This record gives sequence, structure tokens and C-alpha cells, in this order.
Amino acid sequence: MLRIAGRAYDRRMKLATLLLLTLLAIAPPPQTGSVFTRAMAARPDVTGAIAYIDDHFDAQVAEWIRLTEMPALSTHEAQRAAYVMAELKKIPGLEVSSDAIGNVTALRRGAGPSTGAGRAGALVMAAHMDTVHPMDADLKVKRLPDGTLHAPGIFDNTASVANALQTLRAMHAANIHTKADIYYVFTVQEELGLKGMYYWMDHHRDLATMVVASDGGLPDVNYGALGIYWSKMTFTAPGAHTLNSRDQPHPARAAAQCITNIYTVQLPPADAPVPAIYNVGMMGGGTVVNAIAPENWFTVDLRTIDPDLLQRLDREIVAECQDAAAAQGVTFAREFIQKSEAGGRPETLAPRLGQPIVRTPIAVLAYLGMTARTAPTGSTDANVGVVRGVPSVSIGRSLGGNQHSLSEWANEASARVGAKQLLLVVLALAELSNPG
Ligand SMILES: [Zn+2]
Repeated sequence: MLRIAGRAYDRRMKLATLLLLTLLAIAPPPQTGSVFTRAMAARPDVTGAIAYIDDHFDAQVAEWIRLTEMPALSTHEAQRAAYVMAELKKIPGLEVSSDAIGNVTALRRGAGPSTGAGRAGALVMAAHMDTVHPMDADLKVKRLPDGTLHAPGIFDNTASVANALQTLRAMHAANIHTKADIYYVFTVQEELGLKGMYYWMDHHRDLATMVVASDGGLPDVNYGALGIYWSKMTFTAPGAHTLNSRDQPHPARAAAQCITNIYTVQLPPADAPVPAIYNVGMMGGGTVVNAIAPENWFTVDLRTIDPDLLQRLDREIVAECQDAAAAQGVTFAREFIQKSEAGGRPETLAPRLGQPIVRTPIAVLAYLGMTARTAPTGSTDANVGVVRGVPSVSIGRSLGGNQHSLSEWANEASARVGAKQLLLVVLALAELSNPG
């Protein structure tokens, strides 16, 4: 048995304990669990903000409908942006600005350092203003007796824009103070590969310590990022009349060969923990029947959450096109239509599940009577945070369906839960401070 002299041992133990305590003080363990509590929800200022949402729900729905009827196809968000900007300027205490790409930002300053949103204390909330619907689409909102609203864009993502505006009004009305700075970013071009959010994050480097995107349906809590590459594959050659086409370089044959070969590229099984998928969705080229077309093209939509798999599959698909082009003696070029990076495999993201960024929305949803549906994926403005290592999450805005189609719909009453959820998640992550 090991024997240690009493007094020396005591001194060494004291030193070791002191050292341990010092280390703990220097490097506190990462915070785990929810930063939302029922006690927080019971604070008079928070109940005041919740009451504001209840008392003004008719106005919230009216604004939601008004916004939905403003066309906002990606890159054509100006009308909505002007409306959002004007509304934000009516709310005292916000620093409102817009940027060159068209994002509208409201900064609500916090009182000081917080632990929830990190040392620098900047919580970024993003809601995209754009839709996928053409500018001349019929956007008139139809209200059915079953409590649903029907119009293109009503669900994705106009509900979030209306919810977000209302939470800012509620915070002001209830005189809420937070420790962290909160940036509300109403983004553009989300549907074009998150371009507005990438732009914002590029112009505010190292600012965000947490990102919350409001997008998707209730009760989703997504903490990963689905990588999406949209490519246009183009094959070109001089072309030739059919009579002179024998053995001539042939873009259509190269494109056809490439499509056939792409579908031999091996994917993980559909039920694999990390699946991947691709699809050739569009084809085109040629203007006459009686000639080799000088140009033929098709598109590829490639998706997976695994960054390495995304790169490997992309390389294999491009290699198939290069081989097919070489075999037909034509020129090949790949152009990215949009590119949104992958956020990581489930095991890489697993620690996030225990952290405030994910536990807080789960706790808030439980408080509001819903069971969160969590997943290590996502296809929202939060992806930009995920791929840059910033704790990020996307939460739902309402119940609804058929998004990106003309038959899009949303459940009216659920937006009340969506707004309250957004308010409580933002307040908890930005931590409340007591102004008095
Ligand atoms: Zn969306």
C-alpha cells in the first residue's frame, strides 16, 4: 500500500486543489442544457410581452396577410424590405439599417456581457423575406373556415417575418432588457443558396455568437446544415448539319452519356445514417431538328449533410462529365447555380444536442405544449452559422404545408405559438438583465 507522509501530502493536496480551482475559473466548462426556465417565463416583463402577442394577434395576422400579398421573388424583395424597414423604424430603441444586397437589420442593444450568447454577446435572428414565387403569381390570401390561410409564400417564410416584427414590438411594449445585443436580420435571397445571409455574415465577421433562424414548420428544431450543390453542366462544339454530322463532336450525345453515367455513381443506402441524393432536373439545348446542336446542358441537384461525401460525389459527377465530353470530342464546363455547404455528420454535431442553442428551443416548445422534432440537418439561414462553427439552430414559424407550391397554406392560430416561441427563445439565449 502506498504511504505518504501526512503533512507533505496535505500541502500537495492543497496545491493540487488550488491549481484545479484556478483552472476551472480560467476555463469554465461549456454551458449545457436550456437557458429557458419557467421562472423566466413568469417574470412580469416576459408575461407582459406574451400578453402583447395575445392582445395583438389579429394585427399580427393582418400584417402577415399584407406581407404575403407583396410579391418577393428572390432578388425582388424591395417592396417587403421597404415595409419591414418602415415598421422597424416605428419601434423605439432599434438601430435600423439595410445593406447593399438588400438585407434589413435591426440592432437591439443589450445591457452587457452575457453567458447565453457568449462573451461578445451577439445573438443573430434571421428571417428571410424572399419567396420562390413569380412576381405575377396570384398572391391573394384566401381565409378558409377551418382556420387556414392559403397563398403562395404564406408559410415559407412570410409567417416568420410577421412573427419577428411582432416579437420586437412585444419586447418594446413590455420594456424588456437583455444582456446580449440582438440583431434581427431580415434576409434576401435565402432561396438562392442563402446568399443574403452569407453576405451579412461576411460583413459582420466574428460578430455572431449564436444564430437562430425562423424558418420551417413547428415544432422543428434543426441544428445541422444540409449541403446543396446545384450545377449546370454544359457541353459545346461547333455543331453541324445532319448531313455532315457523321463522327462530328456531339454535345447532345456527351450530355446523354454523362447523365447515364452519373446514375452509376454509388450513393449510401437511402436508410444510411448519412444519406445523399442527386437528381438531373432540367435539360436543354438545340434549336433545330436537322443539326448537331452547338450546346446541350443539364442540371444536377446534389445534397448531403456530410461535407466530405459532398465533395467526393461532386468530384465523381464532374469526372463523369469530363470523360463523356472527351469521348465525344466536345468542350465541357460546369457552372454553380447555387452552393450551400454541408454542416457535418450527426456524430460531429452530437455535442450541440446538449447545448443551450438546441436545449432552449426544446424547453420553450415544451412550455408551449409541443414536443420538439430535432434533426442534425437544416436548409435555412442558420446553415451559414453551422458551417462556420457558430452554435446555430432553425426553429419553426407555424403549422402549414405545400411550401414552394401555389397551394401553400398555413394554420392561422399556430402563428401565435410561433411568435411566442421566437420571443422566448430569443430572450432566453440573449439572457434577461434586470434594468432596475
Ligand atoms: Zn424558407
